[in-house]
Amino acid sequence: MVRAIVGGNWGDEGKGKITDMLGAQSDVVVRFQGGANAGHTIINEYGRAALHLLPSGVFNPHAVNVIGQGVALDLDKLFRELDDEVLSKGVPTPKLLISDRAHVLMPYHIQFDTLEEMRLADKAYGSTKSGIAPFYSDKVMKKGIQVCEIFHDDLLLEHLQEIAALKNAQLTDIYHIDQREPRSEAEKKLFSPIDPKEMFDYLVSFRDRLRPLVGDVASFLHQCIREGKQILLEGQLGSLKDTDNGIYPMVTSSSPLAGFACVGAGIPPYAISDVITVVKAYSSAVGAGAFVSEILDPVQAEELRRRGGDKGEYGATTGRPRRVGWFDAVATRYGCRIQGATEVALTKLDVLSYMKEIPVCTQYEANGEKTDDFPFTAVIDEAKPVLTTVPGWGCDISGVRKYEDLPQAARDYVEYVEKAIGVHISYVSVGAGRDE
Ligand code: GDP
Repeated sequence: MVRAIVGGNWGDEGKGKITDMLGAQSDVVVRFQGGANAGHTIINEYGRAALHLLPSGVFNPHAVNVIGQGVALDLDKLFRELDDEVLSKGVPTPKLLISDRAHVLMPYHIQFDTLEEMRLADKAYGSTKSGIAPFYSDKVMKKGIQVCEIFHDDLLLEHLQEIAALKNAQLTDIYHIDQREPRSEAEKKLFSPIDPKEMFDYLVSFRDRLRPLVGDVASFLHQCIREGKQILLEGQLGSLKDTDNGIYPMVTSSSPLAGFACVGAGIPPYAISDVITVVKAYSSAVGAGAFVSEILDPVQAEELRRRGGDKGEYGATTGRPRRVGWFDAVATRYGCRIQGATEVALTKLDVLSYMKEIPVCTQYEANGEKTDDFPFTAVIDEAKPVLTTVPGWGCDISGVRKYEDLPQAARDYVEYVEKAIGVHISYVSVGAGRDE
């Protein structure tokens, strides 16, 4: 059985916890897109771990953790994460399979991401500067380096020389690195041209560690499907950050949709039987971009931000404060639809326990008209939320383990959300821990 766990909002829905919970019962956990630009927070018997690139099955000694060809593979971050977040906590060495076709996110992708955000100044995308947009641009431009190339010296060096010639021209012509005065060691690196030999040595330095982990992911997964193994596809970010269907251009550069696993891991489309879409009981978003139900009052927003998640709504990768808002039925219904949600996990219901009355965004109002549909970005930017308030429950629900034991008002809220998005809510989460 192949199940996907994906985000129905802007990311940070709490997918990590649901994946960790279901990862414990899975034979295979697969990452199929994105890179180290977002993080899952996982709290289990080993403590609190922030995973950015590793699949959540690393805590399950029986699971094979797959990094598919759709992932932006930052090798330096991958091995640091394996050492710092997993092995140093006493977790047994996880089983890892990395696609030989995955592309490698190079240090110069981070350099280009940083330089482009500097060039854009106040129009910057709010990138995490993890190199994601330059990485995927290179891949589509056919200027990427695939994992299997690391084992072919001549091919690799020649390829890096070609790439460096193009990129060094861009570094001087577009970013004028030759005219910059570096003020620190970091800036010195940022304003340096790419040395293909240095990049070659960088990649080759991972060879020994990488060799036993690399393989043909699609063929492995086909075999697992044939054997009836439990496979979990782990999405990063959420629907509204999808390049094609999200709030373009304030989106990510890969597809966080369950359907993309067919491409990013080589899974047959008909094999995915369940798309568990994780949706948050309120809203949050990182970086710039349309966010209709955003709480604009700074005091009210800070209150929700402080109480959100297990440590407040601050980015797992960057520590940036997240923008927060009320539950947005318009965006979430759309987000579930484009994921092809078969069921929903509603997270962080406990966070709203402090509210006497809870506003919910039921429609958007744009150009004097109310709409139930999620519009094109320029219209969303103009849209105002149509808010309705529903009663709060006003007590701590974090100890509740059965749906029937939730206070009536909390159940009413869950059922209100379920009706608004039109997808069955099969999990309700009331805390960050695996059993909550
Ligand atoms: P992801 O990117 O979707 O995996 O989201 P994160 O892993 O960044 O989750 C956001 C935060 O919410 C983390 O700190 C989680 O521990 C926390 N979290 C997840 N589910 C719940 C919940 O139901 N209640 C509370 N209070 N925190 C939760």
